[in-house]
Amino acid sequence: TYPTFDDPALFKSAAHVDGVWIEARPGEGRPLLNPSTGERLALIPQFSRQEVAAAIDAAHRAFLGWRALPAKARAVILRRWFDLMVTHADDLARLIVLEEGKPFAEAKGEVAYAASFVEWFAEEGKRVKGDVMAAPEGTRRIVTLKEPVGVCAAITPWNFPAAMITRKAAPALAAGCTMVVKPAEQTPLTAFALAELAARAGVPTGVLNIVTGPARVVGAELTGNPLVRKITFTGSTEVGRVLIAQSAATIKKMSMELGGNAPFLVFDDADVDKAVAGLIATKYRNTGQACISANRVFVQDGMYDTFAARLAQAVGALRVGDGFEEDVQQGPLIDDAAVAKVEAHIADAVAQGARVTQGGGRHARGGRFFQPTVLTGVTAGMRICKEETFGPVAPLIRFSDEAEAIRLANDTEYGLAAYLFASDAQRIWRVAAALESGMVGINTGLISNEVAPFGGVKQSGLGREGSLYGIDEYLELKYLAWEGA
Ligand code: ADP
Repeated sequence: TYPTFDDPALFKSAAHVDGVWIEARPGEGRPLLNPSTGERLALIPQFSRQEVAAAIDAAHRAFLGWRALPAKARAVILRRWFDLMVTHADDLARLIVLEEGKPFAEAKGEVAYAASFVEWFAEEGKRVKGDVMAAPEGTRRIVTLKEPVGVCAAITPWNFPAAMITRKAAPALAAGCTMVVKPAEQTPLTAFALAELAARAGVPTGVLNIVTGPARVVGAELTGNPLVRKITFTGSTEVGRVLIAQSAATIKKMSMELGGNAPFLVFDDADVDKAVAGLIATKYRNTGQACISANRVFVQDGMYDTFAARLAQAVGALRVGDGFEEDVQQGPLIDDAAVAKVEAHIADAVAQGARVTQGGGRHARGGRFFQPTVLTGVTAGMRICKEETFGPVAPLIRFSDEAEAIRLANDTEYGLAAYLFASDAQRIWRVAAALESGMVGINTGLISNEVAPFGGVKQSGLGREGSLYGIDEYLELKYLAWEGA
């Protein structure tokens, strides 16, 4: 049963290339299923390499005209796209709930977050500027210009179906680039609706194209085609490595937002209520399916028992259900493989001595629903501490001093987000500086917004999204050596 859409034209099942909507050919569409109910939502087009190449050609043809527009003209169009996203926020959220499963209120939050990048980069696009410098010779000037990179390919994940697209498309379009987006197989509908709203906002034909199909086929063309000047990717480290390797032949610019293994540190001097609330916010939102979700919770000796008890109580009160049900706080996991992975992580931890103090298994509702879970007595060698669980499980690990906490927190190849809860300012400063991660939440579990630079170090990625830095990912610096100037 579908919810009623205020604007049914936003429920599209067609890819978008050069202003044309392309439905699946008869017999060739891939069924898209609702993760909550298993119900079929749509048949999704499966592009061949040639069709992906055609979309790249379209973006290439559109590039010269789009880059030639004054930044302000592009900003006006992007601002209209933002306004339309806000006007149609309920319908966009309905699509997110249908294909991704998160609670409706969370989906509305994602739409606001997604739209904020469009609003932000509409403004930032107008502020792109170069410099003028005196050259050492004294007879010339050095002038720098910033120019759009060209055709960009975006490959996005399913966990934030709207925001992961706008966080890339908004700065790219604001900078004057054109784009081909490959959304995740699980969440193409939100991408189609965003393209529809972009077209209504006046984004010209060919500037923003959406292609769907087998990931390897589409990925091979996006990375191999010399007209694509940049790959911007959010997803697993494993796939990021493949995309970097495949792009080597044509030397593309890359932005990579990859996996994480976020440590969450709770010191003895932390405010326990804030720490519990912070962990609930980062760990159980989107059923734990976020790359910045806390994956390892380190709690200091003096705080451990209190924190564990309070957390188990709060987690036990979370309401699990279909995202359209009233007051639901946790939806299903995305697919059966996700459920199996969460189960395997818990089983491995329990076999090695961890204790389940809340939840621990599949939810009574069946399907892909999973109980919000807390494990105590976890140690660093367990699988749950080494791999991204991407599910609603908080593993609690005990530590005794600051140096041990830092060593444990940094003992991973990832470096995306970290969280720390403490009250002593000296300690906060020391620990925040020592953590090997691109982002640190201090006494908060919510760190993402359009004004802040999002990104990781180590094998969590390359580049930053959002913020005043994000647009640079879509700009090249050109230098003019102007003799006699
Ligand atoms: P997740 O674990 O979040 O599904 P993935 O890295 O598997 O992360 O997927 C993120 C995005 O990368 C999705 O759009 C997916 O279709 C795409 N993808 C996966 N494998 C490839 C590949 N070989 N080439 C190009 N894109 C890929």
